[in-house]
Amino acid sequence: MKMEKLFPISINPQFCVRCEKCSYSCSTKAIFFRDSLRYVDYNKCKGCLKCVNVCEHNAIVVISLEEGRLIDFKIDN
Ligand code: SF4
Ligand code: SF4
Repeated sequence: MKMEKLFPISINPQFCVRCEKCSYSCSTKAIFFRDSLRYVDYNKCKGCLKCVNVCEHNAIVVISLEEGRLIDFKIDN
């Protein structure tokens, strides 16, 4: 049986235009700034994916760990 663990999301700084929409959409305040980049606090993130829906620049990907290997995939808004 394949073991898979979902790590909610990751923000790609190459696509992020720092518009703040993801931060406003996050009810648990899991998205924060550091050195003008967006990061996700995985202790606060509940994996609701609202931030993925509001990001118009496809800068947020869903990350999962599959059999020890990190993979990411885009959610089509
Ligand atoms: S909504 Fe997307 S583009 Fe805007 S700050 Fe968040 S990750 Fe960056
Ligand atoms: S998935 Fe939900 S809880 Fe996690 S950072 Fe995005 S909006 Fe916040």
